[in-house]
Formats: sequence, structure tokens, C-alpha cells
Amino acid sequence: MITEVDSRFCSDVVSYDFKFCCEDCVHYDATDFECSLGFSSSPHRARALQVGGTIVFCKAFELT
Ligand code: SF4
Repeated sequence: MITEVDSRFCSDVVSYDFKFCCEDCVHYDATDFECSLGFSSSPHRARALQVGGTIVFCKAFELT
């Protein structure tokens, strides 16, 4: 799901320590930077949030 990043989202990520990127997902293999389910991890990997930008939530995300 593609979601636009706004200032409220940015503050909520910090306030609630919101995890949604591959690096915090049980299916992520940090040794080869790949998803064990075979999905492309690049749209879901951690990056700096930018107001006005977008993030792509993965429906298969499972917190480690
Ligand atoms: S399931 Fe989704 S969030 Fe988890 S590692 Fe794979 S691509 Fe990333």
C-alpha cells in the first residue's frame, strides 16, 4: 500500500516507535538484503522519511 508521508505520520513514527520496514520484519535476511518470501525488498527497506514523499507498506510484514 502506497501512503503519502505527512508531518503527522513522521511524528507518529517517532512517538509510537512504529516499525514497518524490512529491517524489522521476520522475513528479512540481512545477510543478503533479501526477503525470504521472495518479494522485492527495495520498496520496503528503511529510508529517511520525507514529508511529501511516499512509503510503501508491505502486506506480508511481520514484526520480529
Ligand atoms: S515480507 Fe515484506 S516487509 Fe517483510 S522482508 Fe519481505 S518485503 Fe520486507
